[in-house]
Amino acid sequence: MFQINDNYQKLPGSYLFSTIAKKVAAFSEANPDKQIIRLGIGDVTQPIAPAIIEAMHRAVDEMGNAETFHGYAPDLGYEFLRKAIADNDYKARGCDISPDEIFVSDGAKSDSGNIQEIFSVDNRIAVCDPVYPVYVDSNVMAGRTGTYDAQTGMWSNVIYMPCTRENGFVPEFPKETPDMIYLCLPNNPTGTTITKAQLQEWVDYANKVGAVIIYDGAYEAYISETDVAHSIYECEGAKTCAIELKSFSKNAGFTGVRLGYTVVPKELKCGEVSLHGMWARRHGTKFNGAPYIIQRAGEAVYSDAGKAQLMEQIAYYMRNAATIKSGLQESGFEVYGGVNAPYIWLKTPEAMTSWEFFDYLLEKANVVGTPGSGFGPSGEGYFRLTAFGSYENTVAALERIKSI
Ligand SMILES: *Cc1c(COP(=O)(O)O)cnc(C)c1O
Repeated sequence: MFQINDNYQKLPGSYLFSTIAKKVAAFSEANPDKQIIRLGIGDVTQPIAPAIIEAMHRAVDEMGNAETFHGYAPDLGYEFLRKAIADNDYKARGCDISPDEIFVSDGAKSDSGNIQEIFSVDNRIAVCDPVYPVYVDSNVMAGRTGTYDAQTGMWSNVIYMPCTRENGFVPEFPKETPDMIYLCLPNNPTGTTITKAQLQEWVDYANKVGAVIIYDGAYEAYISETDVAHSIYECEGAKTCAIELKSFSKNAGFTGVRLGYTVVPKELKCGEVSLHGMWARRHGTKFNGAPYIIQRAGEAVYSDAGKAQLMEQIAYYMRNAATIKSGLQESGFEVYGGVNAPYIWLKTPEAMTSWEFFDYLLEKANVVGTPGSGFGPSGEGYFRLTAFGSYENTVAALERIKSI
């Protein structure tokens, strides 16, 4: 009789977005005349920029012609894209990352879930709390997290680093020493980030204790403050302790197109073993490369026209973020994020729980957001609104919230 991977049985149900959907459906049915505005889910809404669509069309036509047809892509990514990434995301920022340290993939969710595979199951992971759920769940599947306590919502073998208003949403070095540290900056869900000097302290800490940092830079394009690092490799010593994950989803609207990449520097080693070699082997064995058409689309992200169009798109979302932030502040809310990320993280008023505030906002303003407790125990008492809606809806939502 076959056996299953029992670790999957340990996963608690993820009820967050299905519970939200059920509550919204029930409210709509009871109040068919009410127009609901959704500022909950972290998906973009603006269409793909014209320069990128043109590149995709050209690549599609190439596929229909024997002379320019492309079959299997190189496992690790086409040179044209890896070079564009190295030049624009790294060299232009003074980071010495070469094209062959960049591994092109179908997105940062896959990479952030898969990367744990090249590490021992005996490693202890540390995560921020609240957190993007993929980091913990993929380690649960691998059997690295111990047992789940439904009361506290925590795993026995995971080190949690609370990020709350008390510490300014800056994770503190944990009391127990982790082997793998997940950092997502700017952060989803809190919308906050840390300075380059603070990130340097994490790099120094990781090098000192012999930990590896898995650095998720999915929201890098939203950084507006000058003292915030765009890549962890801007910090001295990061190449011996950090892996960086990047996505084209939030900067270029590729959530449905699918493209990302991971940087594993050649200097990153465990004893004599190169992690670069291990990830290359894993990638080559289990992945047959991102589609040619999509990699051409990715290349266009770095063209002059692409860059200009995407800057406008980011500015559009960040105008929404500013609208949400100032509107909430005018209504007396305590608000965080929204400056270097498209997320606004608010403190729920009058000791309301995250879910009580969800119901309150749905009933009184017909606005949907995401309860902070869904991202981890330290998210309780907070609530996330996203800037990914249309400007008109965002303005309308804030008018309603102000008039409650
Ligand atoms: C949206 C998001 C990603 C992007 O994932 P893709 O698979 O590239 O779409 C990665 N990390 C975080 C924290 C995110 O919020």
